[in-house]
Amino acid sequence: MSPEFNLIAKYFTRATPSADLGVGDDAALLRVNAGHQLVISVDMLVAGTHFFQDAAPYDIGWKSLAVNISDMAAMGAVQKWATLAIALPEINEPWLAEFSRGLFACADQFKVELIGGDTTRGPLNISVQIMGEVPTGEALRRNAAKPDDDIWVSGNLGSAALGLAHLQNKITLDSEVAEHCLQALHTPMPRTALGLKLRNKANSCIDVSDGLLADLAHILKASNLGATVMLDHINCHDFLRSRLDDTIIQQCILAGGDDYELAFTAPQSQRHAIQELARQLNLQLSLIGKTTEKLGIAVTYKQQLLAISKKGFDHFG
Ligand code: ADP
Ligand code: MG
Repeated sequence: MSPEFNLIAKYFTRATPSADLGVGDDAALLRVNAGHQLVISVDMLVAGTHFFQDAAPYDIGWKSLAVNISDMAAMGAVQKWATLAIALPEINEPWLAEFSRGLFACADQFKVELIGGDTTRGPLNISVQIMGEVPTGEALRRNAAKPDDDIWVSGNLGSAALGLAHLQNKITLDSEVAEHCLQALHTPMPRTALGLKLRNKANSCIDVSDGLLADLAHILKASNLGATVMLDHINCHDFLRSRLDDTIIQQCILAGGDDYELAFTAPQSQRHAIQELARQLNLQLSLIGKTTEKLGIAVTYKQQLLAISKKGFDHFG
């Protein structure tokens, strides 16, 4: 066997019981359950842009799939299958073994089957496509927020951005906080259970990958609305909470990327149901603001309008 096929057989071929045909032919064969829509998304991770060239290969494997699963969660879809297109500068078996271990750890945890892909030589570049399904008409979309919807966000925001700032030596964290932040950055946990439960409750939903304000702005633009957001109502790690006056910390929470939490809007009539959901899932769901007919996002902190520095947020639009 040629080295390429050896690699595929060794590192990327696993049983795929939910597919009619998986790795090994010219294409895979899949069946979507009756009454469901196929949901597809793809993300590319480029070394040096989306992760450090020397990042732990296990983490790269985990994250390249996790960020795609997060897109399924944000649609209210069940993640089922993935393909992997990977360019490798060289055949580095220890690297591949760890990458594959991280990828399949995530695949196993979230019940995704790798059903195909492409392997070539080139600058390190990883593209995962994910496929899932959702009952027809029930997907959570960005364009259906209504005026006066509650705005919610799951979990903690800002930890991953703080972890990145730590790696870039822009801030120094003590080891316990650093460990929490680096875990958030390297091995995000997509909110799949939440996404499914939000069907028929949320009016709109998005996963927070580029920073809360940037991603919320996508919902608002698609729904032709504005919003008010209360910084002090956003849940974050105690370290961030204790420094909420600091502009850098505010930026991590409002504009830091890589959180992979879900931000969603829901009518006020769903407030109790959503609080109940938080208890059921044992997951913090914070009510952080509301949508408005007036366009633009107004952020308050301690009930004062926050002057968001144009510079700090510029590259987020
Ligand atoms: P083709 O020449 O028809 O494109 P390939 O030689 O690229 O086929 O791939 C052979 C088989 O291995 C295909 O079924 C393909 O889906 C699978 N495959 C290739 N690379 C990967 C990968 N990185 N992960 C999973 N499956 C892969
Ligand atoms: Mg091919």
